[in-house]
Amino acid sequence: MNHKPRTITLMPGDGIGPEISLAVLEILEAAKVPLIFEPVDVTPVVDSNGRASVPKQVIESMQRTKVGLKGPLMTPVGTGFRSLNLTLRQLFNLYANVRPCRSLPGVETVYGDVDVVTIRENTEGEYSGIEHTLVNGVVQSIKLITRAASLRVAEYGFSYALAMKRKKITAVHEKSSMRMSDGLFITCVREVANKYKSQMESLGITYEEVTLNTVCLKIVDNPKRFDVLVLPNLYGDIISDTCAGLVGGLGLTPSGNIGTAGAIFESVHGTAPNIAGKDLANPTALLLSTVMMLHYIQFHSYADLIEQAVIKTIKDDNVRTMDLGGKAKCSEFTKAVIKNLK
Ligand code: NAD
Repeated sequence: MNHKPRTITLMPGDGIGPEISLAVLEILEAAKVPLIFEPVDVTPVVDSNGRASVPKQVIESMQRTKVGLKGPLMTPVGTGFRSLNLTLRQLFNLYANVRPCRSLPGVETVYGDVDVVTIRENTEGEYSGIEHTLVNGVVQSIKLITRAASLRVAEYGFSYALAMKRKKITAVHEKSSMRMSDGLFITCVREVANKYKSQMESLGITYEEVTLNTVCLKIVDNPKRFDVLVLPNLYGDIISDTCAGLVGGLGLTPSGNIGTAGAIFESVHGTAPNIAGKDLANPTALLLSTVMMLHYIQFHSYADLIEQAVIKTIKDDNVRTMDLGGKAKCSEFTKAVIKNLK
């Protein structure tokens, strides 16, 4: 494992964020991964007009390092603040949200053996953040779909499926109701599918288009029916959390936000204010997001080492945090993972 040290922007986040970030840092240090972390505070800066934005320090650090690791951020309710997560995604052009939902050996779930990857458009759709009051009592929210963003996420989805030798790509839509917006999205995905047709055929990868309601119905009935899903933003948000539920909950699910010039990896759960500061959080989601990050920067052997240690801790040693029905504190789980780094 001969790698040059790599600098990473660290955004520990709010609530349980600092606890799970500390757990990850301790494990990375014990595994001797040559990473240098640049911690930054993402607390929004509010200008004289009351507009909140990401601090300059975060932008400068990300521009330098190109890779970030992020804990959950609290979105203040009713303050008119835009979600900082959305701001970060748009600011750094993090156009594809990738969430591998794989059953973790040792975590009992209804199906076991689930292996679905959602690739979600991450910058527009219903989450464009364009909302306004038309007249008193009537608000309007714009669902923005562009050809450029749809082609970009589809391109990522197909290259991912080819590189990872997956079996099927499902494009998800509601184009009979949202004729223009979902219609454009699906046209773009189909265009990319045609471009990769011969490569897909030679690898035995199939392509299909399925409506959102059918995906909802079938994925909870038989998750193995799906493999890689390419979705517009809102549908992706819903289906990826459904998949997280199928593999044992939010405490286990990692994610990567892939951009044109870098990426941010983050746990998908929130700040869990009900357990924050109590040493009860499960750091696995952030840890597995770190594993994704290590693959992204080509530190594959370190990624495998940490992933195996997590599996051994949960499966063989039965050391589990409260959300997985165990009694281990976050710090005890962390120590157990470190012991299993071999
Ligand atoms: P949440 O994910 O914080 O909590 C939901 C439930 O899951 C709680 O019972 C919590 O204790 C549990 N949980 C979540 N993560 C866990 C972990 N790692 N280990 C053990 N248990 C865990 O969702 P919420 O309560 O709806 O949101 C709280 C705050 O988080 C809100 O301000 C919301 O805006 C924010 N949020 C941030 C992100 C993000 O930054 N990516 C995502 C979702 C929610």
